[in-house]
Parts: sequence; C-alpha cells; structure tokens
Amino acid sequence: MRYAETGFQLEIDLTRGSIDKVETDPRETALYLGGNGMDAKLLYDRVPPGTDPWSPDNLLIFGNGLLNGTCVPGANRVSVNTIAPVNGLMGHSLMGGFFGPEMKMAGYDRIVIRGEAPDLVYLAIHNDKVEIRDARHLRGKGMVDTQRLIQEELNDKRAWVAAIGPAGENRVIMASIDCGNSSAARTPGPVMGAKKLKAIAIRGTKDVYLAHPAELWEMCSRLRKELDANPNIGDWMATDEDDSFHHNNFSWGNARVRRKTFWSASLEERWRNLKYDHLNRWTGCWNCPKACHNLIQWPNRRRFSYKCYGKDTYHMAAFQELDFTYEILPVSMDLGFDSYSTPQVIAFALELLEAGILTEKDFPGMPSDVRQRFYYLLQKIAFREGIGDVLAHGVSGAAAIIGNGAEKFDHNTVKKFEQLPIKLGKLNPAYFLMIATGEDMAITQIEGSFPQDPITDPELKEEFIRKWVAVPDKKFAEWFRQWVKRDQLPDDAMVEIVDWNEGMHYLDDSLGFCGFVSSFRGQFGGTTGYHVWNMPQIITHATGIEFDKDRLWECFQRNRNLIRALNNRLGLRRFMERPPEDHWAVRNEEYEQLLLTKYYDFKGWTFDGIPTKETLEKFSLGYVAEDLIKRGILTGNEVTALKDARAKKEKE
Ligand code: SF4
Repeated sequence: MRYAETGFQLEIDLTRGSIDKVETDPRETALYLGGNGMDAKLLYDRVPPGTDPWSPDNLLIFGNGLLNGTCVPGANRVSVNTIAPVNGLMGHSLMGGFFGPEMKMAGYDRIVIRGEAPDLVYLAIHNDKVEIRDARHLRGKGMVDTQRLIQEELNDKRAWVAAIGPAGENRVIMASIDCGNSSAARTPGPVMGAKKLKAIAIRGTKDVYLAHPAELWEMCSRLRKELDANPNIGDWMATDEDDSFHHNNFSWGNARVRRKTFWSASLEERWRNLKYDHLNRWTGCWNCPKACHNLIQWPNRRRFSYKCYGKDTYHMAAFQELDFTYEILPVSMDLGFDSYSTPQVIAFALELLEAGILTEKDFPGMPSDVRQRFYYLLQKIAFREGIGDVLAHGVSGAAAIIGNGAEKFDHNTVKKFEQLPIKLGKLNPAYFLMIATGEDMAITQIEGSFPQDPITDPELKEEFIRKWVAVPDKKFAEWFRQWVKRDQLPDDAMVEIVDWNEGMHYLDDSLGFCGFVSSFRGQFGGTTGYHVWNMPQIITHATGIEFDKDRLWECFQRNRNLIRALNNRLGLRRFMERPPEDHWAVRNEEYEQLLLTKYYDFKGWTFDGIPTKETLEKFSLGYVAEDLIKRGILTGNEVTALKDARAKKEKE
C-alpha cells in the first residue's frame, strides 16, 4: 500500500496515441519526494541533451506535490516542468488551485506527456477512464470557452480543465496553461501547444490513503487554525489596499522608470473603490483556509481572478492605472498569456518603436492610444501576425531577431527569462546570488525565509527572533541579531542564507506547498506555516516513511543538485549566471564573482558551477556523476570552486 501518493503515473504518448498507467518505484519517493524532484528525475532519465524542446521527444510533466490531496492544508501545487524552448534549460512552473489534488484523487501522482498529436486533441481523465479526444473544434478558442465547452462535452461541471489559449496553440513563449483561478506560466504553455494538446480535463473520486490518519488529522486541524489566524500567511495583497511597495519601488514601462512618489492616499482611496465596486468575491485553492484570489467582474468583460503582483503588471508596463489592468487582464488571460512576461514584451516593443529601432511600418494600423496599442499587440502576438511573430519569442529572442541595437533593450532578463522589473541602487549580495544562480527562473520562487532587511529597533528585533520558529539552526538567528546594514553580513552567512531560502522552495515544490503558506512568508514577521521542524513529522504521518530534519534537507540538496546537473548537461555554465547589468546602479564585478565562487564552493560545485563527483555521490546521485563523466562534462577529479586555481587568482 502506498500512502499520500497513489504509486501510479499516467504516461501519454500523443504520437502513438498510447495511454499507460505505470506503477512507480516507492524508493524514488523517499529520495526525491514528488513534484519538482520527480519531474527533474524523469527529465534527466528520459530527455537526452540535444533534444529540441519543440520536438515530440521533449516531455511535459504535471507532477503532483507529494502531499497534495491529503488533509495537509495549503498542499496543492503541481510542478509543471519541461525543457524550455526559450533557453533550452529545465523550465519550471507551479500551478495551484484544484488540478493537482483532483489528479491525485483520479489515481495519479503525475501525468507525463510525450509525442505530438497529428491534430489538436484534449485528454479526458475520469479515474481509470482516460481518453485522447478530438479538439479541432476548440482551435483558436479562449480559455473560458475551452473550459466550458469541454465540461459540457463531458457532461461534468466538476471536471477541472487545464487548457491553453491561442497563444499556447501558436507556441508563443509567454503562453500559460490555465485552470480555473490558477495557471502554470513561464514555459510549459508553448510546449503543450507544440504537442497539439489543447487541454487536460480531470475528475477524480478515489480516496488518498494516509499512513497515520488520526495523527495527521490532529496535526492538520491545529495547523489549519494557525494558518487561518496568521496574518503573515497568504497573499495579503488580496485584501490590503496599500500597494505603495510595488508602485514606488518597481520600475514601469520596460523596467525603465521608477516613480518613487507615485502612491498617495487619494490614489489608494480611488483604487479601493474601483476594486470593491467590481469585486465579486475572494477565492482560494484546494484545502487552504486563505482566499488570495480577487474575483473581478469588469463591464463587458468575462469574470476573472488575479492575485498578488499580477494586478500591477499591465498598468505599470503601460504607465496607466488599475482600471487598465482590470480591463485588459481578462482579455490577455483568455488568449492564454501570462501576466508577468507579456506586459514586459509589449513595453519592450513600444520602446523600440520610440527609439526608432522598429518603425511605424512594423505596426501597420496600430492605434495611437497606448491602451489600444496593448490590445493591438496582444492580438498580433497571440496569432503571430507581423511583428507579433517576432515578439512571440519573448524579449531576449525578439531582441536577437530584430538586432540593430535592440539587444540593449533586453535589460531585464536572466537566462533569457523576463524578471521582476526591479532596478535598485546598491548591490544586495544575497539577492545577487539568488538571481544569478536560481533555477526556478524568478526571484519570488527563491527568496523568502530570511528577511530582506535588518530590523534596527533592538526590541522589535528580539521579538522577531523569539517568534522565529522556522530557523533551521540558531546561527541564522545570531546572524540576524548582529545584522545592522543590508550588505554587512559576512559572505559565509550570505551563502548559507541563500541555501536556506532556496531549500524551503525546493521542499515546497516537491511536497506541494504553496509558497504563501510556507517558504515565501518567513521573511515577513518570521512566522510561517511550514518549516524544517514540522515538515518531517507531517511527511512521516502522511507517507509512513520515517523522516527527520536531516533526511528532509538531504532531499532538498539531492533535488537541487539533480536540477543543476540536468541544466549543466543542457549547457548551463558560470558565465550565464548574471543578473541584468543595470539591476543595481552600483556594481562590483570582482566582489560578485568572488561571492559566486564562495556560493559554488559551499554547494560542493566546481568553479564552473557544476556539482563535483563527490557532491553528486553524497546525495545518491552517482548515476548522474557517471553520466556527466561519460559526456565529458566532468572528469571526476574536479575540486570545489574555492580550491580551483582560478579562484586563487580571483582572490589575488
Ligand atoms: S495561500 Fe492563497 S495562493 Fe496559497 S494555497 Fe492558499 S489560497 Fe492558494
């Protein structure tokens, strides 16, 4: 008997039209947990380097977090992973809502999709009944209609439908996969389009078994009350109307302009009224006491939901106000765009027009009003018409195609991914490391456990430390106690803080926890729902596999090193680990490189950022070491970064 997981994955080959329910090895659960970890293992084992991400041989995996579908509150994230066409590295995305738990209750820990259908299809899953169905009649349909039509066809209003819109069908890099109020953005959408898979509809009515149900229930009942009562948990932007932080600190347009005094009391009042005049209700995700999504009904638009920073991206890219986001977001979502990269791509195009790198001829018939220009470009990109065909490659890809100096306007990407539009003054060393080395593609998927800034008031600082149950080791509290100025933490502390920050996200992503109840929340107020002290007990009660803090941390390091090695095999090297040059106004190349070396060394990686043979073997990844040696990526005799002759030169 398998507990918390089903012990099966659904394997679909769209080229052959085959459907297989495959039993999985429980020993792998103990090593990689689930979600991101298991997805990475499958990508490592089954997608050899050199595979074209657009080809049928690439995999698209919907991997349930290990605890999804159990009574553990806030565990509902599905890792949607693939090899990303935008940069050829592993693409990682997280989808909340209800899709993952429903998949678990249908009897599957993950869905692994290979191949390419001869024409547009969708998958219909109802427990053991799985069909590949014709979806040609859904071609070009938006998310809302696709979801509704499939539910009608299946005569099942309770089926959850994860679908792509026209943007995904047309392989636009910024396409997302949407399901109800949640989406998987940043890479899987265009791959789903390349596979000609319009949607996956899923309905499950089976039980998920638990190893120690009474103990887990008791623990979760208490946790649920704590999460509910904890003001630091969830996305307080759903209810807090003061959004001065993003508007005064983030950059507008194509990550260009900071408007430090933009926010005002009267603006806040106006936007509050705008929101509550159109707010339908708040919604949340499966088995979570919080409700972070605002459900908005805007005149002449379909009802839509948003959370967090998603409400700001469009109006900030267009130098408009909140009403513009409310007006355009439902259109953009229905076309199947993400709301993170797409506004940046449009702002980038308009900036190129202003700079004369693109001309009016590139935008035939484009209105002069900036709002209408955004709609014009959304349509062009979704259907890959004219300049839209170029912009569909994202900022980096489009800049490379356009040339003629456009590359200089690609100033907010890392590893070809659009980043949060933040341009700051002085280097923040921990953030430098996270942005440079993160393989989750965005800073919000890495930061979170350690506060961003010191607390200067001694009493408040002690109060914070006293409540800080999540610290994995007292040394973190001690570093925080001694911390006065942002950049004055010792480098050794800095690399361990980064390690903790990323560790919690890797654990969340393999267990299924939403970052808003876990890894992303420790920095605000110190109290968070999940941490290394309660996760092991939860996993043990859920799965029956004995876990303690050390074993859990080993799982994180294993998954981190596996994903790193996968990306190294796909070409990731040190020179690619650079935040945008203008991310901070004041830079110190020498110091940044030394910091990178120290981080690599702490992780047991070479000077080039590749895990050494010893590191891989330490985390039961000997087969990965052998593979990297066979491919000439490692010799097996490498030393860690600081022992490398190049590091000694760096120091001199
Ligand atoms: S905290 Fe919010 S986003 Fe996270 S699972 Fe709960 S409702 Fe969903």
